[in-house]
Amino acid sequence: ITLLYADTGGGHRASAQAIEKAIQQLFPGVYRTELVNAIHAFPYPYDQAEKAYASAISQARLGYELFWNATNNVSSTMASRLFIETAGRSRARAFLERHPADVYVSCHPIASQLLPEALSRVSPNTPVVGVVTDLSTVHALCWSPKVDFYAVPTDVARRHALENGIQPSRITVTGQPVMPDFATRVQAARVKRTRSANSPHGLAVLLMGGGDGMGHLVDTARSLAQSSLDLCLTVVCGRNEHARAEIQALHKNLPTRVLGFCDNIPELMGASDVLVTKAGPGTICEGFIAELPIVLYDAVPGQETGNIDWVTDSGAGFWCPMPQQVLQQLRHWLAQPADLQRASQLSYAQARPDAALHIAHLIADAVASCGVYAQPRINRANMHLS
Ligand code: UDP
Repeated sequence: ITLLYADTGGGHRASAQAIEKAIQQLFPGVYRTELVNAIHAFPYPYDQAEKAYASAISQARLGYELFWNATNNVSSTMASRLFIETAGRSRARAFLERHPADVYVSCHPIASQLLPEALSRVSPNTPVVGVVTDLSTVHALCWSPKVDFYAVPTDVARRHALENGIQPSRITVTGQPVMPDFATRVQAARVKRTRSANSPHGLAVLLMGGGDGMGHLVDTARSLAQSSLDLCLTVVCGRNEHARAEIQALHKNLPTRVLGFCDNIPELMGASDVLVTKAGPGTICEGFIAELPIVLYDAVPGQETGNIDWVTDSGAGFWCPMPQQVLQQLRHWLAQPADLQRASQLSYAQARPDAALHIAHLIADAVASCGVYAQPRINRANMHLS
């Protein structure tokens, strides 16, 4: 089973890792898994997306939003698919030669557009499972009628799939894939925190900006760290070293930890009372599992704007795009702990901790369906291209 992602943000990789872990947990020793960053298989200019994504969001936000909206339709997606398939054909073939598999799991929209066509020429019975990780506003480029099965996080995403011509039988609502042991690790951290005599006082706030530390992270960190609220602050800057250095250099009134890319998000969430984050779907769904009230300080225009309604409508949190609004919300929760408790309960009501396991089952079914329809079920010889 080959799982594909690209590091445009941290969510695609995190989803692929969660699904891989779920496969290994559910079917130990049955499937061999490979996790691959597929960016080099994408045709130009999509192969530049990792470098361009974070800077496009921070420096050309309006342009990104206009582009997102202008291309968010079926006809534009058909044109893009044709371009991606044609321009990416030789790279896709080379990719398939290097990474032969019995099923491909695409956690990135460009891979979902690229792979099925290339695969149809060399191994037509090998299924592609597409994993869509946007909760509410899903770009049309996420959908391809050539993908065999889709796992989607919400009923709203399913509706988008139907509107974009995906057959109902190919869509399964699974929830957003999060590490299958995420909840257990959160609980362990929570128990440790309760028992620890050295736990810092005040509301423990975890500030995150996705895998790339995006959005108004520095401004939000500044305003929190320089406030006089009874808080202790942990800032996760992800891969944004520039933001990390800036935040580290700030004058701070509060106990503040500034971290780079962390692989212990469950433990950090378990040690926190509130999550302040950019509206990334991965972080939000992890916050739900960790029962954290959520303050959204920023959202990538287009794909993350729907996540704002998702969080606020559920009562799990608030949209606070100005640092002063973030402070105001935290001040309110400090004064009204019952409201904080209520938001925590409503956050947990949205949690789907078993989503990755559900997707692992779906993938196993995809392999089985290939066995029914393909003769022979697995033919690696087909994967070697002339
Ligand atoms: N993440 C992580 N370590 C970090 C920062 C982020 O593992 O230091 C993970 C985070 O837990 C989440 C993902 O990266 O699973 C970010 O995904 P999200 O959809 O929230 O935002 P994106 O980075 O894709 O914009």
